[in-house]
Amino acid sequence: MALIVQKFGGSSVADAERVMNVANIVANTYRDGNDVIVVVSAQGDTTDDLIAKAEEINPKHSRREMDQLLSAGEQISISLLAMALEKLRIPVISLLGWQAGFKTNSQYTIARIKKIDVDRVNSELDKNKVIVVAGFQGLNKYDDITTLGRGGSDTSAVALAAALHADKCQIFTDVEGVYTADPRKVKNAYKLKEITYDEMLELATLGAQVLNNRSVEMAKKYHVELEVLSSLNPIPGTMVKEVTKMEKMLIRGVTKDSNVARLSVLRLEDKPGIAFNLFSKLAAKKINVDIILQSSGRRGTKDITFTVAEDNAELARDCIMECFPEIEEENVIVDKSIAKVSIVGAGMETHPGTASRMFDALYSAGINIEMISTSEIKISVLVDQEMADRAVSAVHAEFFPEGREY
Ligand code: ADP
Ligand code: ASP
Ligand code: MG
Repeated sequence: MALIVQKFGGSSVADAERVMNVANIVANTYRDGNDVIVVVSAQGDTTDDLIAKAEEINPKHSRREMDQLLSAGEQISISLLAMALEKLRIPVISLLGWQAGFKTNSQYTIARIKKIDVDRVNSELDKNKVIVVAGFQGLNKYDDITTLGRGGSDTSAVALAAALHADKCQIFTDVEGVYTADPRKVKNAYKLKEITYDEMLELATLGAQVLNNRSVEMAKKYHVELEVLSSLNPIPGTMVKEVTKMEKMLIRGVTKDSNVARLSVLRLEDKPGIAFNLFSKLAAKKINVDIILQSSGRRGTKDITFTVAEDNAELARDCIMECFPEIEEENVIVDKSIAKVSIVGAGMETHPGTASRMFDALYSAGINIEMISTSEIKISVLVDQEMADRAVSAVHAEFFPEGREY
C-alpha cells in the first residue's frame, strides 16, 4: 500500500461532469489499496472571477480581505468533490487549508508555507478516509486565512507530499504532461517523458504555467518526484526528478512570459552609488528585478534599464521617483508592451553556439531582440509582445524540427 497525493487543477474540476471524472480517478486509486490525499484548486475561472468582483467593488482593497475572498473558491471544490466521492461510497472528508494544518507567513496573497501540522490528516488517514484538501491556502499567526499566490495549489500538493513522505505526487491537469512549449500555442510541441527539477524550475519561472515554480523548488528541496499528467486521458505523463535517464537534451523547452515591464531611467548622474541606491530601494519593496542594463557613461550621465514583473511596474516607478527626486518625468520610461521568450536546457552548458542558433531563428523570422540575458541553462530575450508567439514558434522550430523523436 502506498500513500499517494493527487492534485487536480481548476479545469479538471470545472463542472459536475469533470468533478465526477476526478472522483472516479481518486476512487480507483483508493480501491487499489492506496491511501489517497487529494488537493484541488477552485473550479474553472473562479479565482479570476473573484478577483474581478473585488476590483469592481474596490480596486484598493486590502490584501487580507482578498485572501478571505479567494479562499472561497477552493472551499467550493473540496466539498463538491467530497460529495462526488460519497456518491461512489468512498469514505471521505474534505478539509480547508487550516484544517489540514497549513501554517504560513503573513504575506497575504503571496504567503509562504512555514509548516504543516499533519496530526489531523494522519488521524483521518488512520480512519481509512480519502482526504480532500483545499489547495492554495493556509493560516497565518494571526489566525487569518492566507493564499499562496496564483497557481499555488501545486505547492500545497508538493508540501503535503513532502510532509507526509508520500510515495507519489501526481499533478493532474488539462494537458498530458510537460511539453517542449505550450501545446496550446505551438502545435508541434512534444511531450517530454522526463525533466530535471532545475530545468522545470527555469521553465516554470520563465512562463510555463503547467507547474507553479515554487512547487518545483519545494519538490527539489524535499526530493518529491512529480508526475504531471492529464485528468482526461489516462496515459503516462512527464516525470520531474533530480536526474533524468535520457541523455542531456540540448534544449528542453521554449517559453514566453508576457508579465514583464521594462523601466528605463535616462540621464542619471554618472557617479558611484547610483545603482546601489536604486536597486536596494527596489529590494526593500520586495520587487524582483530581472534583466539589468547600464549604459557606459557619456558626458557625465548614464542610463539604467531593468525589467520587473508587469504587476510591479508602478511600484518600481515610484521607487525611481523616490530615489531620484530631481529627475524629469520624461527621463523615466515604463514599457509594458514587451515579452520575454526563453530557451531552457541543461545541455546548452556544453554546447557553444546555442545562443547564436536562437538569435538566427529570430532574425530569420524578422523579429528584433530588445534585450538579452543568459545563465548556465537558459537564454532569454525581450521582444515586442505582439511578436512573442511568433518568436516562440520560430525558436521551437529551430531546436525541435519535425519528424524527430524527443
Ligand atoms: P491547472 O488548472 O491544472 O493548474 P494550468 O492552467 O495552471 O492548469 O496549467 C496548465 C496549462 O499550462 C496548459 O493548459 C498549457 O496551456 C500551459 N502550458 C504552458 N507551457 C506549457 C508546457 N511547456 N507544457 C505543458 N503545458 C504548458
Ligand atoms: N485557484 C488558484 C489560482 O487560480 C490556485 C491554483 O489554481 O493553483 O491561482
Ligand atoms: Mg496551475
